[in-house]
Formats: sequence, structure tokens, C-alpha cells
Amino acid sequence: MSKKLFIETLGCAMNVRDTEHMIAELSIKKDYELTETLEEADLIIINTCSVREKPVAKLFSEIGVFNKKKKEGAKIGVAGCTASHLGEEIIKRAPSVDFVLGARNVSKITEVVEKKHAVEVSTDYDESTYAFGEYRTNSFKAMVNISIGCDKACTFCIVPATRGDEISIPSDLLVQEITKAVNNGAKEVMLLGQNVNNYGRRFGAAEEKIDFTGLLQKISAIDGLERIRFTSPHPLHMDDAFLDEFASNPKICKQIHVPLQSGSTQLLKAMKRGYTKEWFLNRCEKIRTLCPEAAISTDIIVGFPGESDADFEDTMEVLEKVRFEQLFSFKYSPRPHTEAAEYGNQVSDEVASVRLTRLQKRHTEILDEVMDAQVGKVHKVYFDELKPGNRVAGRSDDGKLVFVEGSEELLGQIVDVKITKASRGALDGVVLNQS
Ligand code: SF4
Repeated sequence: MSKKLFIETLGCAMNVRDTEHMIAELSIKKDYELTETLEEADLIIINTCSVREKPVAKLFSEIGVFNKKKKEGAKIGVAGCTASHLGEEIIKRAPSVDFVLGARNVSKITEVVEKKHAVEVSTDYDESTYAFGEYRTNSFKAMVNISIGCDKACTFCIVPATRGDEISIPSDLLVQEITKAVNNGAKEVMLLGQNVNNYGRRFGAAEEKIDFTGLLQKISAIDGLERIRFTSPHPLHMDDAFLDEFASNPKICKQIHVPLQSGSTQLLKAMKRGYTKEWFLNRCEKIRTLCPEAAISTDIIVGFPGESDADFEDTMEVLEKVRFEQLFSFKYSPRPHTEAAEYGNQVSDEVASVRLTRLQKRHTEILDEVMDAQVGKVHKVYFDELKPGNRVAGRSDDGKLVFVEGSEELLGQIVDVKITKASRGALDGVVLNQS
């Protein structure tokens, strides 16, 4: 009889894909099958995130809860970015943890699961780093890692320490992987990388010379693939050729994440982001000119060390000018292994809270205007999930969540939907055509 595996996944899309990789390896090589019931699991894995402080603090209380609920003999493993940065300390603080597996080491899951108190957190790599069995949570959409790690050194970010140097996966392997997913029913691919549009920068003379724009062109030629998304691009690498390709290639969904972090050039310098407020605005203007229908989303950190009122006003000004549809905004929290954690001029929590509330309030107003304006419009929606009450969910080309009444016949189809109702997080509509 198969053993049961329970996995909790925190954090970004890269972690979601790492979870898929671990499920593939464990089910193919170790005969595990997934369960959603913790109490019946033989193996419990927490795939962690360490970008902010809170999830890290939560980890140890969660291990305590899992330990009480788990059945006799069940193993607990901690994987992901917190595993990378805390390593052995996790087992010292929580000896009930059986293994610790870093974000760069998921290919070792079948080895560590057999050992007591194994710790694998190296950030070296070989090709096994990106060679995995096949498992996809959603057969209609495939997530594909195109690069691993990050070569940047943003002073607030722990990722280079947890995921290691950036490597790009050869494009022929990516075409093979995507073609296989398409043959299994996926019409959409999400290309993943910490710094996705830096793809190919480290390829040597002996390797195919291809950058992210070239990769988008190559992947677009795959028959049956209809939609391409990607995350997360870096504003610094948004050159004209890339933006032209984004706007003109009909397979590329018109949704783009442009992580601002701060609107102040001075703070961007302290963050080592490599661009200015003017460059950022110029790139967003270019996107709007070439592709007015594109939805632009962003990340913003408030209360970065040294952020003055004037710096924060710069951020508010960029928000007003670009009118981001989605905003992922957070108060700065010092992370280990980062330069900014050592900066002396930390902003008080009180000031950061006031700024965050103001930013989010203004963004909510913008979002409401954007969503209300969708009523009466027609979107092409790719449906991929059945919901209770005869409802089906999908995403528009520009990434909006859309619900319609319908059945499983809609799954895997891209159809025109007229929007009838808008709320902050989603749209409701009616199907206009269905083949
Ligand atoms: S680009 Fe900067 S923020 Fe993004 S993962 Fe790399 S270091 Fe972190």
C-alpha cells in the first residue's frame, strides 16, 4: 500500500513548483501518494518561505502543532528557504524534525527522507538540480522553472543566500518540458525564475546564445501552447526588445509584474536595485504605449531603512502615475544574511504602519476603479477550475480572476466572456461563445 504524503506550501510560485517536484520524486521513486489529511500522513513536509519574518516565526509553533497531530512514526521534514538559512538550527530547536532540505536541494528529497536528522542546504548545483519527474497540480496550466537562484544583491533580500547563484536551464530542455505539458492538456505555461528576464546571461561560449526575449520566441513556436506568462521580471532588464516582444507576441499574456520596491531613486540605490525612479516610469510608460490593455502589478516595501517622508511621497507618485492593478506591499523587516539588516537608520514601526495603510488605501481605490470599468467588457478567459454551485473559474488574458456559471465542459477552453459584475478580487460574467 502507498505511503501518504502531506505537504504545506508557503511563499512564492517557485516554492509551489518545488512542491510539485518533491511530489513527483516521492511518488515515482518512493511510492508516496498525496493526502490532505495531516493525521493520516506518513510524511509531513513544510515547504517554507523566509522573505519576511512572520512565516519564519510561525514555523516552530507549526512544527509543535504537527507533532501533536501526526500519527505514530510519521516523519516531519522542513524544506524551502527557511530550511536553507536556518539549516541545522531547525533540528536543534525542534528535534522532532527528521530532515532539513534547502530550496536549492529539492532533488535530494528521496535521499533525505531515508535518513534521520539529514541536513541538505548546499547552494552548489549540478544538472540534477533541475531534473525531476512529472507532477502538475493543474493539468491545464504548467509552471516551468527556467532559471534557479539569483545573481543580484538587493540589500533587503535573503533569496541569493537561500537559492544560490543564478543558473539558466538550457532552452531545448525547456521546450521539451513544455511540449510534454501541452501534450498532457496544458494550453498555458508560467515561466518561473527569481529574475526571469535575466535568463541566459551566464550561458558560456559553448552554449546556445539566447536571452529571455529569444526564449519567449522559441517557446511561442510550440504547437498547441496558447498562453505564456512569466514571473518575476526585473525592471532593470526590461529593454526595448523585450517590451516589443511582450506587446507584439499574441501568445504572451498581457499581464506584467514590474517590482518597484520604492519610488525614491535614493532608496533604490540603497536597495541596490540598479534602476532609478525615472527608468521605472519610462518602462511603464513604454508598456502603456505599446500595449494599453496590459495589467501592471508591483511589489512595494515601505519603511526601508532611511525612508524619509519625501522618499515615501516618491513611491505614492509612482503609484498615481502607473496605477498598478495588483500591489504586493509590506513593511520592511530586516532579514538575516542581508546588507540592509545592518543599516543604522531603521524606520519606526509606527511610521511604517501609517505609510503602509495610506499606500494600500489609495491602491484599493485605484483597483476598485479598474475593476468597475470591466463591467460590459469582453475578456478571453481560460477556464481551469470547477467551483461549488455550478461555477467555473478562469483567468483573463490580463490575469483577472473570472467566474461564470457552467460545468466541466468549460475546463481547458478559452472562451469570450462578457463581464456582468465586478468586485475587488474577481469578476463575474457570462459565456458568449463555446466551441
Ligand atoms: S532580484 Fe533582488 S529581490 Fe529579486 S530575488 Fe534577486 S536579490 Fe531578491
